[in-house]
Amino acid sequence: MEHSKQNNYFHQLSKLRRKPLTVAGPCSAESCDQVLETARQLKDLQVDIFRAGVWKPRSKPGTFEGVGAEGMQWLQEVRQELGMPVATEVARPHHIETALKHNIDVLWIGARTTVNPFAVQELADALRGTNVPVMVKNPVNPDLSLWAGAIERLWAVGLKDVAAIHRGFSSYEPSEYRNQPLWQIPIQLKGQYPFLPVIVDPSHIGGKPEFIFPISQKALDLDFEGMMIETHPNPAQALSDAEQQITPQVLGDILAKLQVRSLPD
Ligand code: PEP
Ligand code: MN
Repeated sequence: MEHSKQNNYFHQLSKLRRKPLTVAGPCSAESCDQVLETARQLKDLQVDIFRAGVWKPRSKPGTFEGVGAEGMQWLQEVRQELGMPVATEVARPHHIETALKHNIDVLWIGARTTVNPFAVQELADALRGTNVPVMVKNPVNPDLSLWAGAIERLWAVGLKDVAAIHRGFSSYEPSEYRNQPLWQIPIQLKGQYPFLPVIVDPSHIGGKPEFIFPISQKALDLDFEGMMIETHPNPAQALSDAEQQITPQVLGDILAKLQVRSLPD
C-alpha cells in the first residue's frame, strides 16, 4: 500500500489548522455533563480531536473501569453539538463494533493492548474493510518491534489513516516520570516510517501537570506531529488518572506557550 503524509487523516487535520495536532479530553468519560462541559471548553481552544476512554484497562480490579457503551452517546452528543471528531480506546472487537455503530470518528489502541499481537490482530481483523483512523500507543515495555508490528497489522488490513502515540515505557526503577520517555524509540519509529504521524502523550509519560509543557515542547522540537493531553474540568475529582489531568484553562496556557518550529506543509 502507498503511504504518504499528504493523504493521512491526522496530517490533514493539523495541516488544515497550520498547527500541531491536538487531541484532548478526559482520561475517562464519567458523566454526560463532564464530557460536554470539557468538550465545549476544548472546542474554544481549537482542539482537533476530543478523547475520552469508556473501557478503562485498570491495573487493579475494583477500581473504576469506565462507563462502557453508555458513554458512546455522550461522545455522539459532542460530535452533534460541537462538530468535533471524537476518539475512544478499543481493546476488544466488540468495542470496535459498538464504537462504529455510534459513529466514533477515531479509535486508539492502548499500551496494554499493543503488547499482545493476538489482541492486535483481532482488532485489525475487526477493522478490515473500514477506513477508520486509528492511533496506536506504544506497548508498556520498551519494544520497538511490538509497536511497529501493531501498526503494520493495521496497514496489512488496508487501513491508511494510522498514527502512533508515544506514551512512555514502564520501569521498575523509581523515576520522576510515570513512564520513561526513552525518546530514541519513537525517533527510531519515525526514522523507519517517515510518513507516519507520531504524537506525544505527555500526560502518561510525566504523570503530573508540570511535565506536560516540557515534554510536549521536546516532542515538537523533535518534529512530532502533535500531542494527546488529558483534560478534566476538575482533575482532583477525576475517577482515573487524577494526578496528571489538567483543566482546559491550563491546557490553553500550555498551547499558547508551545513554540512550533515547523508547521505542517
Ligand atoms: C489512557 O489514554 O487513558 C490510557 C489508558 O493510556 P495508556 O494506554 O497509554 O496507559
Ligand atoms: Mn489515562
